Amino acid sequence: MRIIGTLPQDPRPWSERRDGALADTTMRTTIGLVTRRLHLARQHVYRDFPMGETDRLRSVKDKREAIKNLDTLLAEFRRSVEDHGGHTYLASRAGDAVDIVRTIAKTAGVRRVVKTKSMATEEIELNQGLIASGIEVVETDLGEYIIQRAGEKPSHILAPAAHKNRAAVQQLFQWDARNARMEPPESDDPAILTRYARERLRQEFLQADMGITGGNFLVAETGSVVIITNEGNADMVTSLPPILVSVVGVEKILTDWQSLMHIIQQPAMNGVGQRLSSYTTIVSGIRAKDGVEGPQAWHVVLVDNGRTALQNSRYEDVLSCIRCGACLNACPVFREIGGHAYGSVYSGPIGIVETSLLTDLRVLPELSSVACTMCHACADACPMDIDLPGHIVSLRKEKVERHRTAKGADLTYRWWARQWATAKGYRRTIRMARFGQRVYRKHGLLQSGPGLASGWFQTRTMPPVAGQTFGEWWSKTRGGEGNEHGGK
Ligand code: SF4
Repeated sequence: MRIIGTLPQDPRPWSERRDGALADTTMRTTIGLVTRRLHLARQHVYRDFPMGETDRLRSVKDKREAIKNLDTLLAEFRRSVEDHGGHTYLASRAGDAVDIVRTIAKTAGVRRVVKTKSMATEEIELNQGLIASGIEVVETDLGEYIIQRAGEKPSHILAPAAHKNRAAVQQLFQWDARNARMEPPESDDPAILTRYARERLRQEFLQADMGITGGNFLVAETGSVVIITNEGNADMVTSLPPILVSVVGVEKILTDWQSLMHIIQQPAMNGVGQRLSSYTTIVSGIRAKDGVEGPQAWHVVLVDNGRTALQNSRYEDVLSCIRCGACLNACPVFREIGGHAYGSVYSGPIGIVETSLLTDLRVLPELSSVACTMCHACADACPMDIDLPGHIVSLRKEKVERHRTAKGADLTYRWWARQWATAKGYRRTIRMARFGQRVYRKHGLLQSGPGLASGWFQTRTMPPVAGQTFGEWWSKTRGGEGNEHGGK
């Protein structure tokens, strides 16, 4: 059965989201600086570590193979987890995943949850589901902690608070400190802000009844969930609370540890230009009887939500995404408008593609047309060789075929194609355009857009039609005979 996923979406229209982002100069400066710095760091790390390229190529191959064998590997993974005392669940849809986690929490009488950063839980809106059931949820990744205080969604899949500058973070923490009756951070020095968050979060780790993580990789061979962080918070989330729930997309599967060894550097190398993330947390079972670490109970919720529908399709390579964010950092559109303007939890080039594909083009189908310049920078940046520009073009085509509602536009393009199929027709349209341009100019209508083209003209400037075409000039001057352009 083909499963069509659901994703939360910003209800505002694209023009409003885009204009809001473009008007926010602080956000644009911050996101521009961060993305350019990360993009540059990625280039440097490959230069300084040539082995990275060999590992990258091997990772692409391993990941493609794992996706081909998804069903077999998921079955192996589930068996291994259960052999080591864990429980596994397969959630077809976002709502199913939330229900599963809520039931686990309610049954165990959980009141307080600490969480690591996880795009899968953003996708299914897990926090909202738990909070609605009276469960307190605290994000422990620093970026997530910041945006949770701000009541926002991540603006970047790897750096969720990339759009916030130091002053904004200090302001949020001052407000947070007042609520928690703590000393507020006395300056916007990143070290002081981080120390404040660490002290605040330590109490949360110690009081939590349940930890929730995402997962960067699932190793089928041993039933392991692998989480990489730069803060070590996953170590705390997986070892301090008695119950652990891992919520992970099914596509994160890998065959074995060999594959893991090749791919484990790729998110950090391509996302932030580090050779390896600072911490690697691996959960392979519940706490041993005489053990001192690990959860007493472990539940792994595997999320489909439209992913398996991409298997054996032209979009299958999308399931290889490791969420490194390199395509976002390279994208000139993302650098200008940031993540929130996309209106989906997934932004940037991969966000355009995934938002459409997971939901069968039901959520924000306009993204492929309005948020891509076709510059191919994302394709150059993607370590998993995902054909992002090719997919965006295909999505545009599918969107036109499936959502062909603007009958007028359709007829206009057909007429235009017929005219430009002949020289005579081409000349006729140029004469028409010249005349039309004069009328629109005279009435100041050119920028607000003539009729059907109004959407196009909202963001573009109409180039003036030349007063004289090359053909007209040629027949009048015989190729410029006798003047300075003619060469005689
Ligand atoms: S599409 Fe490629 S570059 Fe973008 S997040 Fe995924 S793996 Fe990274």
